[in-house]
Amino acid sequence: MGKITGFMEFERKPYPKRDPKERTKDWDQLHESLSEEELEEQGARCMDCGIPFCQTGEAKNGATMGCPVKNLIPEWNHLVYKGKWKEALHRLLKTNNFPEFTGRACPAPCEGSCVLGIIDPPVAIKSIEQAIIDKGYEEGWMQPNPPEERTDKKVAVVGSGPAGLAAADQLNKAGHNVTVYERDKRIGGLLMYGIPNMKLEKSVVQRRVDLMTEEGVNFVTETEIGTDIHATELNQEYDSVILAGGATNPRDLEIEGRELDGIHFAMEFLHANVEKFLDDEHKNEFISAKDKDVIVIGGGDTGTDCVSTSMRHDCKSITQFEILPQPPEDRAEDNPWPEWPRIYKLDYGQEEAKAEFGDDPREYLVMTKKFVGDGEGNVKELHTVRIEWKTNEDGRKVPREIPGTEKVWEADLVLLAMGFLGPESPVLEQLEVERDERSNAKAEHGDYHTSVDGVFAAGDMRRGQSLIVWAINEGRGAARECDRYLMGETELP
Ligand SMILES: Cc1cc2nc3c(=O)[nH]c(=O)nc-3n(C[C@H](O)[C@H](O)[C@H](O)COP(=O)(O)OP(=O)(O)OC[C@H]3O[C@@H](n4cnc5c(N)ncnc54)[C@H](O)[C@@H]3O)c2cc1C
Ligand code: SF4
Repeated sequence: MGKITGFMEFERKPYPKRDPKERTKDWDQLHESLSEEELEEQGARCMDCGIPFCQTGEAKNGATMGCPVKNLIPEWNHLVYKGKWKEALHRLLKTNNFPEFTGRACPAPCEGSCVLGIIDPPVAIKSIEQAIIDKGYEEGWMQPNPPEERTDKKVAVVGSGPAGLAAADQLNKAGHNVTVYERDKRIGGLLMYGIPNMKLEKSVVQRRVDLMTEEGVNFVTETEIGTDIHATELNQEYDSVILAGGATNPRDLEIEGRELDGIHFAMEFLHANVEKFLDDEHKNEFISAKDKDVIVIGGGDTGTDCVSTSMRHDCKSITQFEILPQPPEDRAEDNPWPEWPRIYKLDYGQEEAKAEFGDDPREYLVMTKKFVGDGEGNVKELHTVRIEWKTNEDGRKVPREIPGTEKVWEADLVLLAMGFLGPESPVLEQLEVERDERSNAKAEHGDYHTSVDGVFAAGDMRRGQSLIVWAINEGRGAARECDRYLMGETELP
C-alpha cells in the first residue's frame, strides 16, 4: 500500500485554505486544490500500517474513531498514488454515497486515527477523498446509473438531509420506487441550509440531487409531513417509511431579555443567509450582521459557521462565547490516539476573525446571565460572568460562578448556537413512534426499525445532532433493513 518510504519523503499537504482576508470577501470555496502530482504524493504517504484504524468507524466514549462509513482508505490512497483515479473512485463509492460532501465538510475522524499520526502528521485523507470524487465529475465518470429493474415496492423518505438522501440512493439502487418529502424549498437538509456555501458549495449539493433525480428518485419539496400530509396517511400509502427529519429543536437560553429583537437561533440566521444568497445574491432583506457588534453564544461548529457568515456580512465586531474551558494544545491523557483529538484548533471562522480583528474571537468559561435592551425593544447588551467547573456531591461536573467577574458586552446581534435538543414531534406523535430518553426516535443502530411496523429512523432524528458521515452511515443502514423488510432478504451493504 502507498509507497513504503512515502511518509519519510513527503510532508503532509492537505488542500490549502485561501487567505482569510481575501476569502471573507466572497462566498466561494474555502480551499484551493492541489495538482494531481501533489495528490499522488499525498496518497504515497499511506504507510501500509497493517491495521488501518482510519477505517474502523466506531464510536467509543462518545468519540468517533476512524471513518463511520468505513471508507476503504488505504486502498484508494494506494490507487491514487499509482495514478489509477477511476479505480480509486470505484472503491470510494463502494462505501460512501456522497464523498463530495464528506470530502469537503467532514471533520475527518479518520485522520485522528491514522497510524502515521502517532509519530508524524497524518495522511491528508479528506483532501484525497474530495480530489477523487471531484475528478470523477470532471472526467464525466459520474453518470446516472438507474436500476435495470424496478420492484413494485414504494418507499417514502421524510427529510432530504444526508441520511434521507443516502437511504433514498440505496433503495433506488435496489430498484424500489422512492419518494423523498422535504418541507424546505430546496433538497439537502443541513447540507443545503446549515453548512455555509464556502464550506460546501450549494451547486455541489444540487449536482448530486440532479443525478439522483435522473436515476429515478422522486423529490417532493415544500411539503411538510405531519402538516401537509398526515404521517399515518403516508404510512398507509407506502410499503415502508424512513424517517430522516433531523434533530432540529434548538437549545434556547431562557434568561431575562430573551424576547428582545436581534436575538436569533443560529439556524434562523444561517438558513436565511443561504436562502437569500441562492434566491437573489443577498439583494433583498435577510438577517444581516453588517456593521453590527455580533455575539455568538456557543463555541461549536454551528457557532463557527455563524462567525464566518458574520465576517462575510462585514460585521463591526465578533465575539464567540464558550461555556467550556479552552482545550489543551496536545491530547489529554483521557483522550489517547486513536480517538478523535479534542485539542485547541483555530477553525476557519476563528481564523478569519483573527485575521481581521487580531484575535481568536472565542471567550471561554463565560455564562450569559441576561440580555438588556435599548428601550425600543432591541438587544443592546449582554451581562455575563466567568465560571469554573467543579465536581458536585454526585460526582458530576457543574458550573460555579466566580464572584467579581461580571462583565457587560455591547451587541446588536446575538446568535444562539448552543446545540440541539432532538427531533420535532408531530411526525413521531402521529405515527406513535416510541422515543428514547433524549426524545429521539427509538431504534437500534444497525437495525433502525422503530416501534412501528415498517417505519425506520435514521440520522440525527435517531442519534441526535451528529455528523454528515454518521447520517450517511445510518441512511445506508436503514435502507438495508428496509430492503430486508420489503423483500425478505437484502444484498445492500
Ligand atoms: C450549522 C450546522 C453546521 C454543520 N456543519 C457540519 C459539518 O461541517 N460537518 C459535518 O459532518 N456535520 C455538520 N453538521 C451536522 C450535520 O449537518 C448533521 O449531522 C446532518 O446533516 C444530519 O443529517 P440528517 O439527514 O439526519 O438531518 P438534516 O440534515 O437535519 O435533514 C433533515 C431534513 O428533514 C426535513 N424535515 C424535517 N421534518 C420534516 C417533515 N415533517 N416533513 C418534511 N421534511 C422534514 C428538514 O427540513 C431537513 O431538510 C452541522 C450542523 C449544523 C446545524
Ligand atoms: S468520510 Fe470523513 S471520516 Fe470517512 S474518510 Fe472521509 S473525511 Fe475521513
